[in-house]
Amino acid sequence: MTGHRIVVAGAVLDRDRLLLAQRRYPPDLAGLWELPGGKVEAGESPADALRRELREELGVTIAVGAALRESVALTGDLTLVALRARIECGTPHPAEHEALRWVDAPGLRLMHDSGRLVPADNVWVPELLGDLGG
Ligand code: C5P
Repeated sequence: MTGHRIVVAGAVLDRDRLLLAQRRYPPDLAGLWELPGGKVEAGESPADALRRELREELGVTIAVGAALRESVALTGDLTLVALRARIECGTPHPAEHEALRWVDAPGLRLMHDSGRLVPADNVWVPELLGDLGG
């Protein structure tokens, strides 16, 4: 498809916790929390793109794992996918986000139920709760 682009997000897991990042832009998403990531560039695999994005955005090196089942059609020609990831090196700091937060299963459920996740990311919550033992 002409102009079709993939956006890849990282479900960064550390035992029973998941990393969420608070967006700064665009205005309709600012303040909401997401799985951090970004657009896949030409010649990159989604895993390559996620490694690059999380190095740029969080300052960490990751190992990429299995994809989450659902993908999401965003506006325009963007399709959003998520890959599980684990931090191999570094401590995440928000270079481009407003803040970062580790949540356990109850914390993720609360973020979801209170409407604080980026809308597209809600689709992954049931599977992520499973990963978190919730
Ligand atoms: O982060 P970035 O702005 O590059 O992401 C491109 C688009 O993908 C955003 O406009 C946002 O709507 C969407 N996105 C999302 N959930 C994520 C990451 C990105 O809905 N976890």
